[in-house]
Parts: sequence; structure tokens; C-alpha cells
Amino acid sequence: MDRLWAPWRMRYILKNKENRQRKKGGCFLCDALGADNDRKNYILFRGRHSWVVMNIFPYNNGHLLVVPNSHVPDFNGLSSEEQVDLMKFTQASINIVKEAMEPQGFNVGINIDAAAGAGLPVHMHIQIVPRWTGDSSYISVFHDTRVFPEMLDETYERLKPYFEKLRSQEPVASSQESGDKISRQDQRTRSQKAGNR
Ligand SMILES: [Zn+2]
Repeated sequence: MDRLWAPWRMRYILKNKENRQRKKGGCFLCDALGADNDRKNYILFRGRHSWVVMNIFPYNNGHLLVVPNSHVPDFNGLSSEEQVDLMKFTQASINIVKEAMEPQGFNVGINIDAAAGAGLPVHMHIQIVPRWTGDSSYISVFHDTRVFPEMLDETYERLKPYFEKLRSQEPVASSQESGDKISRQDQRTRSQKAGNR
């Protein structure tokens, strides 16, 4: 196996979770977002329109999901502002994992609907998978095994401070985005917003 990004495998990995969801007709993402125990649910960040959580059935160490607050199956259910927010925190998450874990590359993608391997087709999410040269052999060993909780905890501890820093840099409201301390990232966000209009 040379390629790690095999979306059909996500269906297998998420099968149990998916079956549970189908049985009760719920959404584990909305459940996690609605709960107040971010550590237990491996939630790293809550933004205005989207949030970041670790995939507890990861392809690789540091596998994150960037999720819109809105329970929608794809981009069509999101406003321009929500779409920008989602992309902004996808970008930020990639930068954080890059800094904290020093991967050599990333796979970033969305599985839309069950045929594409979406484990939870009712609530879209962007997957961020850090890659290291030669990691596919590691994954082939672990892909059908739930990663040890200790490893998830360790990664959570490693990433959390970076997301706390991101949180502290976030404006409380978008109207406060103007000012002297606009980062390059925010400037790009703003031009994207302008482009959406
Ligand atoms: Zn949901």
C-alpha cells in the first residue's frame, strides 16, 4: 500500500461510529460540540462558525477535523462567512500541526456522501492528515486498530497550547478585525471575503 489517502477506508474505520449514529439517528459531531467536555471529546478549538477536533480513529497521528458549527452535508448549506471561517481554521490548523509536529506534507480533503466514504455524510468536515515520508507502512499496521488513547491524549496536549494561542488571537466579533494587529492570515481572509461578495 503506497497511498494513505484512501477515502473508502474511512468508511471501514468509522463503521462502528456510523452504525451507532444511524441507529440513534444522531450526529457525533453535534453531540461533541454540544457537550461541555472538550478534553474528553478531543476538541482543540471553538471558533465563531467552525471548530477543530481530533479524529479519534486517525489515519495518522495529528489527524484533525475542521467542522462547521452548522449541521450541513456540504458547502451549499453554509453562508459565505461560514465558508471563509472553515477555510481560515483549516489553514490555521495546518500551520499549527506543521509547527507542532513537523510533518513533511499533508492530505487535506472532504468526503461528500456515503459513496465517497463519508463516515458521517450529514455533517461535513474537512480532514487534515499530516504525512511523513514512509508513514504508510505505519498506518497499514494501525489502520484497523483504534489508536491507543494515550497517543491521542499526548497529541492533544501537544496541540492544545497552539490552539489556545489561536483562540487568544481571534477577535470576539468580526467587526473588531480592523486595527493594527491584522495578521497576514486575516488580511487574506478579508480579501477572500471581499471576493465572495
Ligand atoms: Zn451534526
